[in-house]
Amino acid sequence: MRLSVLLAFLFLSLPAAEAQHAQHFTAQTKKLGAIKLNGYFVQGGVVVGRSGKLKAMTLDGREVPLGPKGEYVFGFSRDEKGSQVLTLVYKDGKFESHSLEIAPRSYDIQRIEGLPPKQVTPPPEVLARIKRENAKIGKARRQRGDWQDFAGIWIWPAHGRISGVYGSQRILNGQPRRPHFGVDIANSTGTPVVAPAGGVVRLAEEDLYYSGGTIIIDHGQGLQSTFLHMASVEVAPNQRVEQGERIGSIGATGRVTGAHLDWRVNWFARRIDAQFLLPRAIIASPQ
Ligand SMILES: [Zn+2]
Repeated sequence: MRLSVLLAFLFLSLPAAEAQHAQHFTAQTKKLGAIKLNGYFVQGGVVVGRSGKLKAMTLDGREVPLGPKGEYVFGFSRDEKGSQVLTLVYKDGKFESHSLEIAPRSYDIQRIEGLPPKQVTPPPEVLARIKRENAKIGKARRQRGDWQDFAGIWIWPAHGRISGVYGSQRILNGQPRRPHFGVDIANSTGTPVVAPAGGVVRLAEEDLYYSGGTIIIDHGQGLQSTFLHMASVEVAPNQRVEQGERIGSIGATGRVTGAHLDWRVNWFARRIDAQFLLPRAIIASPQ
C-alpha cells in the first residue's frame, strides 16, 4: 500500500517538475585555433563536427576518434565540473591545447523525506541474473564502430509525451538514488520505435531484469543509443539499421510503472543528454 502511494506520488509529481525545469539551450560556436566547434558546452552536452585539418584530437587525455573526413563527436557527463583540455593535432604536425569551460545546469531533484524504510535489494536468485546481464551490457558498451552515423541530423525515436528528462534524481530519506540519464517518451504499448540515427545493433534483448526489451545501437566513434522497456525488439545483434528504420515498439517491460521509451545516449562511458543530438535542443514534447 505504501509503495503504491509513493509511486502514485512520484508519477503525479513528474509533469510539474518537468515544467519547472523546461530549459532552452542554444548551440554555441567556439573558434579554437584553425577549427570551429559547434555544440553544447554544458553538463550532458555534446559536440559534433568535422575538420579536414585534424590528424588527432584528445579530450582530457582521452582519444577523440576521427573519421575519414575528420568527423568527430565528444560529450560531457552529468556532473562534469570546471573545464577540460582539448588538444588538437594538425596534419602539418602543429598542435595546440585549449581549455573548454563546461557550464553547469540545474536538474530536477526531488527530495522526499519520511518514507517507510524500503528494501530495494533484489531477491538473491535475481542477483546472478542481473550480474550476467550487466556483463552483456558492458560488453556491448565497450564496442566502438568506426562509422559516422552520429554526424547526420537526428530524429526522435518515437512520438509521445516527455515524461522524464536527463539528469533528474530522487533523494529518498536523504539517500540520493541513481540519476536518470535518459529522456522518457511516454506513449501506448506498441507505438513504433525507430532508429534516431543509423548504426549497428550491439545488443538486442527481449527481457532484461531492469530494462526489459533493450536495444543498443552503435552510431560510431564511441556514440551509442540505448532503448529500454520495449514491448518488442525487432532487430538482432550485428544488424545494420538506417535512420528511421523500425527497431521495435514502446512497452512497459522491466522494472517500470507505465509504458514509455527510455532513450539514453553515451559517448564511451560518459552519459550525455540525448536531446542535445536533435536539431533544436528544446526540452519539450516531440509531437
Ligand atoms: Zn526512464
